[in-house]
Amino acid sequence: MALRQILSDNHPVLRSSAREVNKINRGVLRLLDDMIETMHEANGVGLAANQVGVPKRILIAINGEDSVIELINPCVDRTEGEEVGVEGCLSVPGQYGEVPRAERLTVSGLNRQGCEVRLKAEGLLARILQHEMDHLDGVLFTDKALRMVDPEELQDEEKSEENSGGKS
Ligand code: ZN
Repeated sequence: MALRQILSDNHPVLRSSAREVNKINRGVLRLLDDMIETMHEANGVGLAANQVGVPKRILIAINGEDSVIELINPCVDRTEGEEVGVEGCLSVPGQYGEVPRAERLTVSGLNRQGCEVRLKAEGLLARILQHEMDHLDGVLFTDKALRMVDPEELQDEEKSEENSGGKS
């Protein structure tokens, strides 16, 4: 495993639509492993492949304390409700904003074995998944934020992690 560099500042790869994965080869598996290491190192809660410069439809998301969801070619099957919450992004350092997201959703995609998986999510996980799927379409949370939040409003760093959806 190796750390990858997280792109920021509107790098063109962050602003373009990522391509479907046709074959889950060794490169894809290595990418998934590297993404997990990179996300943990950056204290993130999710990561999309194009954030590390690989324009492929692959995302990861933290699910609870120590489980990570991996999705290849993810798509949304169904959404329900709406909830506004604070988000940050590893590719938009130091900025937070209030973003409306579906409260619950069902997504499907492939796992690293190439098997179709379907997943219901709500709360933080639902928010992370929507944030990452936006990344794969070249969309950043700042495009959708109703308003940006001054980091001081979130008080100290620890509290901001708690109050916000985290950085992903
Ligand atoms: Zn992000």
